[in-house]
Amino acid sequence: MTGDLTRPIRNLAKLILDFALPARCAGCAEIIDEVGAFCPACWGKMEWLGNSGCRQCGLPLAGTEADTCGRCLADPPKLDRMRAAVAYDDLPRSVALRLKYGGKVALARTMARYMAPLKGEWESSSVIIPVPLHRWRLWSRGFNQSGLMARELSRTWGLPMHSELLRRVKRTQPLKGMNHAQRRKVVSGAFKLADADRVRGRTVILVDDVLTSGSTAEACAKVLRRAGASRVELICWARVVRPAQLMR
Ligand SMILES: [Zn+2]
Ligand SMILES: [Zn+2]
Repeated sequence: MTGDLTRPIRNLAKLILDFALPARCAGCAEIIDEVGAFCPACWGKMEWLGNSGCRQCGLPLAGTEADTCGRCLADPPKLDRMRAAVAYDDLPRSVALRLKYGGKVALARTMARYMAPLKGEWESSSVIIPVPLHRWRLWSRGFNQSGLMARELSRTWGLPMHSELLRRVKRTQPLKGMNHAQRRKVVSGAFKLADADRVRGRTVILVDDVLTSGSTAEACAKVLRRAGASRVELICWARVVRPAQLMR
């Protein structure tokens, strides 16, 4: 019990400390001029994806493809648009891990800053929903990393965030090392929506830290679609662009 009560205070103290100290690169901790940024060396090491690639899934297009990739044409994903700030690699991975397991909550603001330009053409009725954690995991970690990023993006984009709407009702095992079919099976039925009225007829913007196979986000999208969401998009920090990385 004590742990649950002191955690927010500890997080706050950490946040204050992060601001009081000189600005440091979110990648290598080198002192830099700007708060919540990367040094030029770390910046150059990352593969920034932006809004390029397939109109729907965002993956790089082959020379013969127009604006939608062959995979999306053959088997359209449940997500209408998927975008990530960077390609998943050592540096973006370490940033995500330091936020998630190292409790470096200030990193969420840095990550959100680079995710903000991925904004789509959304109507003002659109809502932001972070990909939820199971409540046991939320208790043990003390925060949902995607929720922290979603809160920052909600401020930047001027759209409401609902972190309680979508719930993870099934505690799923880590998806690492599984193929797509296995992943899909594990996350099936893992999410429930608390109030369908709040998403019906609206665009929902899901926010997550890392996109690997997309099975988790697809399972969320399925639930949101069933509740009548008109469109579901996903904005995340990093995504796997080379399938071999899925097994890590
Ligand atoms: Zn750096
Ligand atoms: Zn595609």
